[in-house]
Amino acid sequence: MSNQIKSGPTLAVIGAGLAGLRCAALLAEAGYAVSVFEKSRGTGGRLASSRLGDLTTDLGVPFIETRQASLQQWLSQHPDSAQCWQPSQTDFTLQAPRVDPARELWVGVPRSSVLTRLLSAGVTLHTETRVSVVWPDRQGVLLRDEHAEVLGHFDKVVIATPAPQAVPLLDALQSCQARAAAISLRPAWVLALALEQRPESLAQIDLIEGQHPEFKRILRESSKPGRAGEIWTLQASQEWSEAYLSLSGETVMHELVASWVALTGDPVKVLGYRAHRWLYCDVNSVETTQAVWDGDRAVGVCGDWLAGGGVDGAWQSGTALAQMILSS
Ligand SMILES: Cc1cc2nc3c(=O)[nH]c(=O)nc-3n(C[C@H](O)[C@H](O)[C@H](O)COP(=O)(O)OP(=O)(O)OC[C@H]3O[C@@H](n4cnc5c(N)ncnc54)[C@H](O)[C@@H]3O)c2cc1C
Repeated sequence: MSNQIKSGPTLAVIGAGLAGLRCAALLAEAGYAVSVFEKSRGTGGRLASSRLGDLTTDLGVPFIETRQASLQQWLSQHPDSAQCWQPSQTDFTLQAPRVDPARELWVGVPRSSVLTRLLSAGVTLHTETRVSVVWPDRQGVLLRDEHAEVLGHFDKVVIATPAPQAVPLLDALQSCQARAAAISLRPAWVLALALEQRPESLAQIDLIEGQHPEFKRILRESSKPGRAGEIWTLQASQEWSEAYLSLSGETVMHELVASWVALTGDPVKVLGYRAHRWLYCDVNSVETTQAVWDGDRAVGVCGDWLAGGGVDGAWQSGTALAQMILSS
């Protein structure tokens, strides 16, 4: 946790994903004293990374492929933390792998969560703090945690969580609450595997994407810049993830490894694994309002679900909300 002492207006952001931290960074730059509350142990949200033995792996979005000029520019301004990954890629036929020079795939170095850490540099970050009440009163906007403890009063508050997690925080903004309640998100299982050695059949392949009943994407995490070891990440298809959502992580590991071996024909020796069930991976139906700002209640909302979904939606939404607050 960093302790910044600033004398500007106070602003709390709920959620340390890309949308919340983009908004937080712009407002901190503009002089706000920003506190960010995040229920998890670290920043990133769906750009999260995780330990796998002595190594780390990206468990959320595996790379950033953006059409947002401002995101592209921000990534290229931080060459120590963001670099382009040029994987040799193919589809699930495993035929004709090649580097596609037309695709620009950005990754955090040495893991994706460094990108959100970078955005959080000028804010006070409170991790492992789940906000459960957002309520404007005469002293400002009151925040309480899940134990009903007061977290403070703030001049302005930004809710930057996935839509289902925003619903209980939106009692003060009922029309937005109804919109958030109408959004559904697709789940995804992600399995990261530490292998003894690279499968021979995948000696020339770093990224597999396309149509497959079990998989959405398979990638060699270790081929990204700044990574070590022999780590592969398997993202299950939406259909498979929905059908097997309630399985244990261990069963998911056995099932997906068996499907992978059936695909490649190569047995693998797994040294360690991490299976993660994302209940909210990406949005099914999306709004295009960018962000919501209610100046009377001093509460705003941003997140991928308000701006077309995905990384670009999150970035765009966080940017739009900061601009709305600054011009209000
Ligand atoms: C496996 C996977 C693959 C993906 N692939 C792609 C892709 O190829 N392309 C693409 O564009 N996008 C992809 N995405 C989606 C992309 O990652 C998200 O759209 C984007 O990161 C969302 O950012 P966000 O800030 O809106 O939300 P989040 O990243 O979800 O951030 C919200 C944060 O709020 C926190 N939070 C929630 N409730 C509370 C509370 N009450 N109190 C405090 N904190 C709270 C959460 O812990 C989280 O950190 C993928 C996602 C996953 C998981």
